[in-house]
Amino acid sequence: MEIIHIAAELAPVAKVGGLGDVISGLSRALVEKGHQVEVFLPKYDCLELSGLDHLEVTNQNFTSYFDGKWHQNRIWKGLLHGFTVLLFESYDPHGFFERDKVYGEHDDNDRFLNFCRATLDYIQSQNRKPDILHVHDWHAAAIPLLQKHLYPDLTTKTVLTIHNLAYQGFTERKILEKIGLPPQIFPKEWVNLLELGIIYADHITTVSPTYAKEILTKEGGHGLEKVLQKYSDKLSGILNGIDEKFWNPETDPILPYHYNAHEIKKEKPPFIENKVKLQSHTRRMFSLQEKRCPIVGCVTRLVHQKGPELIKDALYWTLQNGGQFILLAAASDPKTHQEFYQIKREVMDTQFAHIELTYNENLSHLVYGAADILIVPSIFEPCGLTQMIAMRYGTVPLVRKTGGLADTVFDGENGFTFGPPTKEALTNSLEKAFHTWFSEPHTWQKLVENGMNHDFSWNRSAEKYIELYEKLQKVIPFPEKINS
Ligand code: ADP
Repeated sequence: MEIIHIAAELAPVAKVGGLGDVISGLSRALVEKGHQVEVFLPKYDCLELSGLDHLEVTNQNFTSYFDGKWHQNRIWKGLLHGFTVLLFESYDPHGFFERDKVYGEHDDNDRFLNFCRATLDYIQSQNRKPDILHVHDWHAAAIPLLQKHLYPDLTTKTVLTIHNLAYQGFTERKILEKIGLPPQIFPKEWVNLLELGIIYADHITTVSPTYAKEILTKEGGHGLEKVLQKYSDKLSGILNGIDEKFWNPETDPILPYHYNAHEIKKEKPPFIENKVKLQSHTRRMFSLQEKRCPIVGCVTRLVHQKGPELIKDALYWTLQNGGQFILLAAASDPKTHQEFYQIKREVMDTQFAHIELTYNENLSHLVYGAADILIVPSIFEPCGLTQMIAMRYGTVPLVRKTGGLADTVFDGENGFTFGPPTKEALTNSLEKAFHTWFSEPHTWQKLVENGMNHDFSWNRSAEKYIELYEKLQKVIPFPEKINS
């Protein structure tokens, strides 16, 4: 099959969070199964282009429509892990992608609508008829609507994947005029771009089976539960995988010591010698005392979703109970940054905590490798990758039982889970984890082993996507549905 992914992120070229990992991991797995994959991405100024092979301009002269005019654009083409990356460089006067960040600009709605329209104009200009257009999150969610209204000859089936329902692209409907659509096609004055995708895509997936159920409820629906309920017959949950070639403690170039699941010794600690060496290395690097105690790690974005209050509770509890804590976290909101900066200053001389308030890929690998426990106390979590990466690195996850965390971490089997998003529930779970680490080393070793041996690769998930793509090929379109 010929599959085109359209997304705002692609790791490691443009990565803000899990979306980037998913696009590259899934694409690589689809290629390995014999499919032809292209990823369409805006050419932001902040791209990390060194990972792309054979990067070149492939098209100088294609035009796309935006806000009453046709603009000339360029398309760059490069290769990553066997799939093609197409970078859209816009010459429009707003410089929509000549920015040093992926998201968070005042004109994000315009930027990504422009990207949606350009993607389809490009596919049309090439007379292409791919088998699947797979659009991701609100940034690409207008594509199915555009396709059905403006490109009737392009009968390709569309899949929308919701990676995080909390981000929706809410704007006045008159914005649709900018991409050549009559605003009246949407009945309300305000339009939600993700909702357009939910209505018009041929199929909707989200990134874990539990999240697929949660988003149908008032608590988890972020205001879209009604429309999701209406279209629930075309909604399914497919658990994300992780790129096991990239996240591999045996070969990870960032780690100074390597290990794998076969090296786990069963008799007595240290069960994995090189993991212990890595812990000493990391303790030295972060000025933590060399001591026999568990290291609790956390790699996150500091936003409400990730439970910042619970992260603080976990930090203080760990310090009071003889553990060490490493937090690697980026806050985009200055107030949250300041709050955690105060905590950093407070604990920096204790030799028991280290806080890095930034986004740093290399340091994240060290934290996954050096920690004994990785906490993910999310308020909600569509899938979550950090708990899976942790397990691969022999680190036991301690998570709140929600969304994809509930589908991947099982209490007493490969980690620890807690229910209510409260300090009490979290610290009870931490207490259990500390007790096991200190007093039941063989139980601990079993948790580590179960986590390391679990198959979190993209293999299984990619097969589910292929099944879905194949099923969609067989569905004959019902044009009358388009105008309903
Ligand atoms: P989300 O996409 O909501 O941020 P996920 O768990 O799905 O959460 O994916 C997070 C990805 O981003 C993982 O690859 C994780 O390692 C990475 N990440 C998150 N925060 C940081 C950080 N501060 N520094 C480096 N990597 C980070």
